[in-house]
Amino acid sequence: MSQPLILVVEDETSLLRFLVPSISTQGYQVLTAATAAQGISMARSHNPELVLLDLGLPDADGLTVLSEIRSWSRRPVIIISARHQEREKVRALDLGADDYLTKPFGAAELLARIRVALRHVAQKATPEAVFDCNGLRVDLERREVSVHGENTRLTPIEYRLLEALVRRAGRVATQQQLLSEVWGPGSEAQNHYLRIYMAQLRKKLEADPNRPAFFLTEPGVGYRLNSE
Ligand code: CA
Repeated sequence: MSQPLILVVEDETSLLRFLVPSISTQGYQVLTAATAAQGISMARSHNPELVLLDLGLPDADGLTVLSEIRSWSRRPVIIISARHQEREKVRALDLGADDYLTKPFGAAELLARIRVALRHVAQKATPEAVFDCNGLRVDLERREVSVHGENTRLTPIEYRLLEALVRRAGRVATQQQLLSEVWGPGSEAQNHYLRIYMAQLRKKLEADPNRPAFFLTEPGVGYRLNSE
């Protein structure tokens, strides 16, 4: 079996000294690029299974690299951002990045994000019809939802929101993505819809809606359905 190839586009040597061994001990092959130009050319020449992309590169914005990759590839890109790059991070996700990591992050978090992103690619080929994790079960074919074996009735909008999160299970979904998927294009400014319906979903499905175990908030970005 061949090992998935991961391209790391990052200029910080201290971070690379942590990233490269953390990834390669888990059975992945790693390639590194230290500039945007090098990142773009290595992505083209090696077509890696996944790209870890730093937003602050010396020669160009990481968003440039992302747009270039997205012009020809749908393979997962995980953004590495600094705390102050909140806005760029959301833009990257809306431009088609799959997930993000905010510096500083640990090896466990890094590897979990990589696993989820690669698993999602595998599922796209044969989509899994049932999400079942931590007691929450969603059957997308039969449109059935249960918590610890007990069926729950959802309104059509609540269900659509849940479905959008299930399809991204473990990965972040931005507010924009959820709004346009659930309420249709043009509703991206209606953040209050999302707040209201997320509160309803939590009330119906979470044991303690104030301390959600399923629907995690990603501050300033969106939501993530816990799949660990
Ligand atoms: Ca950097």
